[in-house]
Amino acid sequence: MSIFSKEPPNNWSSLVPEATALHARSTIVDLHGDTLMWMKRGYDFFRRHRRTPLSAVLSHIDEPRMRMGGLTAQVFGLVTQPFGLGSAFRSASHQVELLHEAARRHPDRLRVVTEAAELRAASRAGARAGLLGLEGVHALEGDLDNLNHLAKRGLRLCGLSHFSKNPAAHPAIGWGRDDRRGLTPFGEAIVDRCHELGVLVDLAHINRVGFFEAARRSRNPVVVSHTGVCGVTDIRRNIDDEQIRAVADTGGVVGIIFAFNFVGGTTVEAVVNHIVHTVQVGGEDCAALGSDFDGSIIPVRDLSDVADLPNLTAALLARGLSPEAVQKILGKNVMRVLEGVRQRAYEPDEGPGTGGTGVRGYGATGLRGYGGTGLGG
Ligand SMILES: [Zn+2]
Repeated sequence: MSIFSKEPPNNWSSLVPEATALHARSTIVDLHGDTLMWMKRGYDFFRRHRRTPLSAVLSHIDEPRMRMGGLTAQVFGLVTQPFGLGSAFRSASHQVELLHEAARRHPDRLRVVTEAAELRAASRAGARAGLLGLEGVHALEGDLDNLNHLAKRGLRLCGLSHFSKNPAAHPAIGWGRDDRRGLTPFGEAIVDRCHELGVLVDLAHINRVGFFEAARRSRNPVVVSHTGVCGVTDIRRNIDDEQIRAVADTGGVVGIIFAFNFVGGTTVEAVVNHIVHTVQVGGEDCAALGSDFDGSIIPVRDLSDVADLPNLTAALLARGLSPEAVQKILGKNVMRVLEGVRQRAYEPDEGPGTGGTGVRGYGATGLRGYGGTGLGG
């Protein structure tokens, strides 16, 4: 029973069987969930959690419900404290290892992946795929080599900002907000290093100035892992049409969040409004899912946890989107980005003569620091 149970009935329920069938033959990827934040406090990812009044705010994702909801792959956010209460890098590394450890415990149910091919292989084997995304580069503690280490352990998305200013960028909202300042030289170096490593730059949470600077600088498609759009709900953390177009211009994707306050409504229709607007402004190759489940959000009631995902497909079909467009939004668009960046990231760089990738500032040095010792584990 949801806390929004007094809302009017929907007009998409009858399409759920059709949607479930479409699900079953789709690759479905969620660009942002914060389950590791709870796993580090003992949350059992492999146990099916029941819906309780508390599940309005947490326990949205576990492996059994991922399977029920048809979710192929989840990008797990690495959330860390920015205020020097212990090492943020150590905390991020710990969460990375938590996911690897979970996959080692149940390799038949979870695999940590970075590439589209690995993701598909996991899916064929009946396992869920987990990818890793950093939420705010304060966790690098000012050291680019820490990005190398995280990449070596599977980091696929690098969020430049979270709820505070950091050595790279300023947040859209949060401590140290400054709407005039964009990327610092360290922020630019991170964008460049991400290109070398094949890590996708994630522009969720960053302020508008930094957003455009990073999108312009990135030579790979950029991602906004979890956001709403101002064209529907004009709040500071959402992105406007110009930002959607900037992402689309890089060939990237915008993951639409399921949080009721971001989408300005309490039903799945509100999420669909944001997806449809993204498609209208950026094209159907640009929209994706970014639930923010387990991220201290209250999801809309028809998407109260990951098992509800077929409701979204039904609502998208009911809105008149073609099955092909729906499949792109559910995961194909993200798969395209993963495939594209992998190819560029694996371009051989054989020294100054042939290292023509032209990465500003790092062109000739290749993956400097990449051969490091990893995380000691
Ligand atoms: Zn977030």
